[in-house]
Amino acid sequence: MWTLTRQGKVLLAKGLKVRFWGVRGSISCSGAEYARYGGHTSCLEVTAGGRRLIFDAGTGIRPLGLELARRTPLDIDIYFTHTHLDHITGLTFFAPLFDARNSVRLWAGHLEQPNTLKSVVSNLMQAPLYPVSLDVFQARVDFSEFKSGQTLTCGDMTMRTAALNHPNGATGYRVDFGNKSICYITDTEHRGDGPDKAIVELCRDADVMIYDSSYTDAEYPRYRGWGHSTWQEGVRVADAAGVGTLAIFHHDPSHDDAFMDGVAREAAATRPGSAPSGLPRAVVAHEGLTLSP
Ligand SMILES: [Zn+2]
Ligand SMILES: [Zn+2]
Repeated sequence: MWTLTRQGKVLLAKGLKVRFWGVRGSISCSGAEYARYGGHTSCLEVTAGGRRLIFDAGTGIRPLGLELARRTPLDIDIYFTHTHLDHITGLTFFAPLFDARNSVRLWAGHLEQPNTLKSVVSNLMQAPLYPVSLDVFQARVDFSEFKSGQTLTCGDMTMRTAALNHPNGATGYRVDFGNKSICYITDTEHRGDGPDKAIVELCRDADVMIYDSSYTDAEYPRYRGWGHSTWQEGVRVADAAGVGTLAIFHHDPSHDDAFMDGVAREAAATRPGSAPSGLPRAVVAHEGLTLSP
C-alpha cells in the first residue's frame, strides 16, 4: 500500500516488500533470450515502515538508482552478501552516490582483516581497473563492518544474519518486520549431508526465502567448489525450515528464458499451491517482480 502525504509526495509502502532489480548470478547477460527474466546481476530493494534496504549492488542497482535519484534527498543502507564482482560492480553506477544531498551507508559481514569494505571498494576504483577513485562520490558515504551471525536493526526492521558456505565468505540475511519475514540466501553451496543447519535455523517459518539456485541438481556435479547451490536444494531447505515461499534466484547466465520457464514448471509441481501469505510456494524471480508476504 502506498501513502500519499498532503503535499502529494509518495512515501514508502508500509508493509514488508521485496522488489527484484537483478536476479542473475556470476555475470550479467543481455539478448532477446533473457528479456523476460532479465540479465542484471543481484540487487534487491526491501521496504517496510518507511525505510528502504538495498541488498547487493550488482548491475541491477543502476536502474534502481535512476529511479531513486528522482526522490533526493535520500538516506540509504546497502547490505552486501559479499563482495564478488557480480554483487558490487553496479555500485559505481548508483546515481544517488553522485548527489551531495544523499547519505549512503554500506554494510558487509563477511570480510576478514586486513580487508575492509572500504578497502575492497577503493581497490575496485583504482588504476588500472577504474578511471576515478572513491573521491568521485559526492554523497556522504559510510562504510560499516559487522560479523556474520550478528543481529542488526534498521528502523523497525530486525535483521538476523548467518555465515554462508562460499569461497571468501558470504552473509545470509533474514529481515523481520511485524510478523512478516523475508530471507536472502545467496551465494552458498550445499555440503551434500542434508539441508544446511545454519540456513534452516535462520529461515525457520519465514514467509519468503530467496535462495541461490544457480544450477539444477543434474548440472551441479560439474560446478562443485564454485560456491553455489541448486533450486532443488532450495526446495529441500525451504521444506526443512517450513518456509512459505521459495524464490529461485541467482540464475546462471547459461539459463535463458525458455530454460527458466522449465524450472518454473518443475518447481511449481514440486512445491504446489499457496503459502499462508497467499503467495505461491515456489516462484522464479525475475526483474521487476515484487513479493509482499
Ligand atoms: Zn554471485
Ligand atoms: Zn559469490
